[in-house]
Amino acid sequence: CGIVGYIGQREVAPLLLEGLQRLEYRGYDSAGIAIHGSGTGKNAGLRTAKTKGRVRDLEERVPERFAGTTGIAHTRWATHGAPNDVNAHPHLDADEKVAVVHNGIIDNAAELRAKLTADGVTFVSETDTEVLSHLISRAQAEHLEAKVQEALRMVEGTYGIAVLHSDFPDRIVVARNGSPVVLGIGEHEMFVASDVAALVSHTRQVVTLDDGEMATIKADDYRTYTTEGSRTSTSPETVEWAA
Ligand code: GLU
Repeated sequence: CGIVGYIGQREVAPLLLEGLQRLEYRGYDSAGIAIHGSGTGKNAGLRTAKTKGRVRDLEERVPERFAGTTGIAHTRWATHGAPNDVNAHPHLDADEKVAVVHNGIIDNAAELRAKLTADGVTFVSETDTEVLSHLISRAQAEHLEAKVQEALRMVEGTYGIAVLHSDFPDRIVVARNGSPVVLGIGEHEMFVASDVAALVSHTRQVVTLDDGEMATIKADDYRTYTTEGSRTSTSPETVEWAA
């Protein structure tokens, strides 16, 4: 239902929770976040918190030491699998290297799930979304962008997605097909959301992705390209917004 992401210099957890609150008016049944831990050792890697219920229920589950400056978050409106903690997004792969938040419906999820299960993958949720986490994690391509493209080539349906990968902590990769994705361009920081309402308190400079388009956002730059890999040219527009 709703997506928010941030990469920059500031502590990400409060920013993501605030962004989710701005999307609450759309309705949802669960909420969750994933961040790149900023520490080393057991504080490195992806950390996630998710719950059935309201954004304030999620807030209680986000520990104070959830430190990091890159992350993604989601409010879910269940289509595949009951609204519960496990089915809430983000969804991880078995190695917990990939975190995916997704709006929309993967039409061939049952078929992909059967194939992955036959290959030895254990699913933890009932969602259509979880196939994406496993497909991205198992993709052969070297770079995260190409891994996501490889996964999306196997998928039929609608999506707005945001992806974190622990081997690529300097970026968030997003893609759109039938479900809105908007980038917000800041100063040494970038935002992404499914709705400008989550961005406008931080920046009025936005880039709206087209269907079939993807983007890589980093703290200091972004680039857009198609799911086939060719670059697209986009320049930010200024959105007017009555506060
Ligand atoms: N189809 C996904 C699910 O049921 C995403 C739903 C949404 O757009 O929130 O988990």
